[in-house]
Formats: sequence, C-alpha cells, structure tokens
Amino acid sequence: IHSKLPTVGTTIFTVMSKLAEEHNAINLSQGFPDYDCDPKLVDFVADAMKKGFNQYAPMPGLQSLRELIAEKANTLYDADYNPDTEVTVTAGGTQAIFTALSSCITAGDEVIIFEPAYDSYAPAIKLLGGLVKPYEMVPPDYEIDWEMVKKLFTVNTKMIILNSPHNPTGSILTEKDIKALIKLTKNTDILILSDEVYEHIIFDGIKHHSLALYPELRDRSFIAASFGKLLHTTGWKLGYCLAPANLMKEFRKVHQFNVFSVNTPMQVGVANYLKDPETYNGLPEFFQEKRDFFRSLLGETKFKLLPCHGSYFQCVSYAHLNDEKDTDMAQKLVRENGVASIPVSAFYIRKTDHKVLRFCFAKKHETLEKAVEGLMKL
Ligand code: PMP
Ligand code: GLN
Repeated sequence: IHSKLPTVGTTIFTVMSKLAEEHNAINLSQGFPDYDCDPKLVDFVADAMKKGFNQYAPMPGLQSLRELIAEKANTLYDADYNPDTEVTVTAGGTQAIFTALSSCITAGDEVIIFEPAYDSYAPAIKLLGGLVKPYEMVPPDYEIDWEMVKKLFTVNTKMIILNSPHNPTGSILTEKDIKALIKLTKNTDILILSDEVYEHIIFDGIKHHSLALYPELRDRSFIAASFGKLLHTTGWKLGYCLAPANLMKEFRKVHQFNVFSVNTPMQVGVANYLKDPETYNGLPEFFQEKRDFFRSLLGETKFKLLPCHGSYFQCVSYAHLNDEKDTDMAQKLVRENGVASIPVSAFYIRKTDHKVLRFCFAKKHETLEKAVEGLMKL
C-alpha cells in the first residue's frame, strides 16, 4: 500500500528495549519504572473488577475521576476546569496528544515543535497533513530563544507543542519562557498543546509552570497528562486531557470514534486511590533522590552530565570522547557495557546528532548501580 508515513520506522523505544532484551542488558532506554506501583492501588483496581465495573465507562471518562482530576488541576494551578466539559480521560498521554492534534490540525497547518521532541508528535502531525516546523534546542541547556521562535511563525501557524518537564532533556520552562510565549501568542489564534506528563517530576523545589496557571494560555491550550507517570503504572495506559470547553468539544468528537472510552476498572480504582492526594505528593522527592543517586554514580564515569531539572531522564554527552554516531554509541553500550540508553538524535526530525544519550533513572538503586558498573568500563 501507499505508506502515509514513508520515513517512519519503528519507534526507538521498541528498538532499544528489544535490543536490551536480546543482549540481556540493563534497560535504561524506554522510560518505565522497574519497581511496582503501590499495592493499595492494585487492590482498588482488583476490587473494582470484582464489584462488576467491567462494562463501558462514560465516553469522556468516569465522573468521579474527572472530578478528582479537575480538583487537582484547579487546586494546583489556580484554574477552574469544569469536570463535565473540560476534562476527558484518555488511553495514556499518547492518545490525549494524538486526539488533540486530530481535533484541530488539517492539511497545510503548521505546527511548531521544540526538538529534541517526544517521538509521537511529528508523525501524528504528518498523518493529519500538517507541516512540522522544528525549533532546534541544543545541549547543554536546551534553552529557547523566543525571538527565533517568532521567526517560525507564518499565517499557517496553527499550533505550538510544548513539553515541560521535558523528555528527553530534563529541561523545564521557566516563568520567563511563559511570559515570552504569552507575548508571542497575544492577538493570534494559535493553539497550544502542552505535554505535561512529567508535571510532578520536577526537582530542587522548582515550581512546575503549567499552562493552566496562566488564563491567557489556558484558554488556547490542550494539556496532556499521564497516570502512568503519576502512579508508576506506564502499562495501564491511562491519562487525560484538559482543555477549555470549546476545544474539548472538538476533542471529544474525535475521542468518541477513536476509543469511545477508556477501560473502566482502572478508572474506578484510580479514582478511589486518588481521593488521598498524599498518594502522589511525595513524587518530586522520590525521583529527586533517584536523580541525585544516579548522577553521583555517573559522575565517576567518563561521560559529561547534562543538567536535569525534571522528568525521569538523565542525559550525558560523550562528544569529548569520540566521534561515533549516537545510534552506534548506544548499540555499542548495549553490546559491550550491558546498558541500553536512547540516542537523542532519535528525537530530531533530521536526526541531528549532538553525541548525547538519555538514561531513564526510574529504577531501583541496585539497577542503577549495576548499570553504572557497566558504564565504568568505557
Ligand atoms: N509525552 C511524553 C513527553 C512522554 O515521555 C510520554 C511517555 N510516556 C508520553 C507523552 C506518553 O504518555 P503515556 O505513556 O501515558 O501514553
Ligand atoms: N515515554 C517513554 C520514554 O520516553 C516511553 C514511551 C513509549 O515506549 N512509547 O521512554
């Protein structure tokens, strides 16, 4: 058949996880915890199944879960999301992103993304006939020069996709960035898709600047979130989207024919679990401890550590060591050092190679220790 995505292969996460398995390497590539979630949460889901919550959930998501989501966002970000019209439960952050794009991008629309960018954005935009306009961020700080972003604007600019805390670089948007974004989008119809799946994984006491905090941006934004990150349950594929009612109306038109609704017992279980916000309040400290532990170990290797302010990814540079392509370097580390990582060029449309690798530290201490033992051989 005629491929709609001729340049797209298999996602790097699948490629590297498979390679790790084949070589029995420690898998710090694909981002997921290697420890289990809270057994109480599993009990809540099992109870829901036993109590017969096994049929379709309401199309936008379980009412009680939407209410909790709205309450969480409204409390944290001083917003006023209406659970009936402005919150939809999705099959992970991925479906929230795909559905948000599907509900508003048509042929010829331009979408600005910040590279390195999560690998699902560009193919989704292309599939809809949209054009990807990349802004290239560079190591070590991956900062954004908003005057340069402005140069990417045309009459066809339909949307800007943001991601903070950022995968893969661990960078975050500051208040200065947000102010620049407000200024840049003022008096325009440009929409924003804000990927905030790592909203609770942010370190050193830094505040997460959700777009929900800023009325000027909130009114034009879809915000994607993931329970996979919040509850250490990436395999459950549960997430949600927040958007003002006029945008959410269009989002649900697509959602209802895309998945219709998301699995019921997990929504019931998560809703019961989240009644106690203490269940997720400790996330920044939990992951900061892992980041600090991993960074202190990595400091003994030959890699140069890049900053990490949020997310559960640590990037390292090896540009001072050799000139190998990052894809080759990542493969070599699997074969010779027994550790899988993600070559960051995979997150650039033109596969720009800054000789940077990404490691996931959502792992047990012993896993991180073993991984660094392997990396010390470099
Ligand atoms: N956005 C980013 C930046 C991610 O890292 C991920 C990975 N999990 C997602 C979206 C997708 O989230 P989910 O697994 O809930 O679909
Ligand atoms: N978000 C995870 C990562 O960045 C993986 C998601 C996936 O496997 N599609 O590693």
